[in-house]
Amino acid sequence: MNLNDAIAFHKSILTIDTHVDTPLPIKREPIDLGQRYDPFFYKSKLDLPRMDAGGLDAAFFAVWTPQGLRNDSAHAAIKQSALDIIEDIHRSVNPYPKRARLAFNSGDAEKFQEQGIHAIYMGLENGYPIGTDLANLDLFYEKGIRYMTLCHTKNNEICDSSTDSSEYGGLSPFGYEVVERMNDLGMMVDVSHLSDAAVEDVLNVSRAPIIASHSCAQALCDHPRNINDDLLKKIAMNGGVIQLCILTDYVRTPADNPLRDSARAALKEKWGDMEFLSEADKDIYRQERYKINQDFPLILPTVADAVNHIDHMVQIAGIDHVGIGSDFDGGGALSDCYDVSEIPNITFELLKRGYSKIDIEKIWSGNILRVFEAVEKLKINS
Ligand SMILES: [Zn+2]
Repeated sequence: MNLNDAIAFHKSILTIDTHVDTPLPIKREPIDLGQRYDPFFYKSKLDLPRMDAGGLDAAFFAVWTPQGLRNDSAHAAIKQSALDIIEDIHRSVNPYPKRARLAFNSGDAEKFQEQGIHAIYMGLENGYPIGTDLANLDLFYEKGIRYMTLCHTKNNEICDSSTDSSEYGGLSPFGYEVVERMNDLGMMVDVSHLSDAAVEDVLNVSRAPIIASHSCAQALCDHPRNINDDLLKKIAMNGGVIQLCILTDYVRTPADNPLRDSARAALKEKWGDMEFLSEADKDIYRQERYKINQDFPLILPTVADAVNHIDHMVQIAGIDHVGIGSDFDGGGALSDCYDVSEIPNITFELLKRGYSKIDIEKIWSGNILRVFEAVEKLKINS
């Protein structure tokens, strides 16, 4: 099997990426989904031309909010921010009805693929916008959200984060209600970013299979954000799926790069938050950032490093419980898979390692769709 055959095979199968942060560059750069961007100049790793080039049929756009204060006014404000991001996604997809469409059901990915249209799903990354009100879950479901990552890098009203202190020792009492309501709604429960104890609690309470939308194996890279072997097995027993993330820190502990770190810190010090710069200043900022990337390149892991995680997860959890959620535009990047146009390299590596075509289809879409369908079936029509 050579690369061209691998690309042809890759393009023939249904492919789904369960986690991209493309709403961020849509807001910050801002990028137009219909145009092709240079990922070394713009902070953008996914657009429709590059989805075509890379043979990616469907993606879950993360409606991400950073964790902040936990009081009523902060909850109301962040809920509005999340709703605004959903509107941004509509605005970016709607101009291209023949190339991409918002998707809401598990069957849409395949249906759209047959018409040559990309399916754009939405997931809510961080349950922060739910605040303390279950009715918000219903609202976000109506708005098209089909999974919710219960927390991000800090604890919230729902659960403990893997990168914060133990506040509840897992799910909060409200968090239990959230998981049950998500089951009733037919919304997938995403445990990426959760503390181990919170994942255990979710597994105990959820009536439906769960997902880790973008996570790696802790046995290969010791980061609290990654999933240990015991939980890999338990998620498999629950019928769920773990979706490989390709963010550097989770794939391979990065080597020290002090010159790059100080150059980037100086850039940030000079310009502050890019969002607030004028268009002219943004261009200068991008040129300076581009130069830093040339002078002190980021030492990224490779596709082979990432596929080592797939090998491990398949060995521990089984071939029916592994998928891919790249985290493109949220930090996901490999030296030989820097943006979505290069994802066939993952398929090529899997083929070289002896994965069958049937197994590779499971990894790229079959497994997540099985979970998505199971969650939809449990939906209570009320
Ligand atoms: Zn994340």
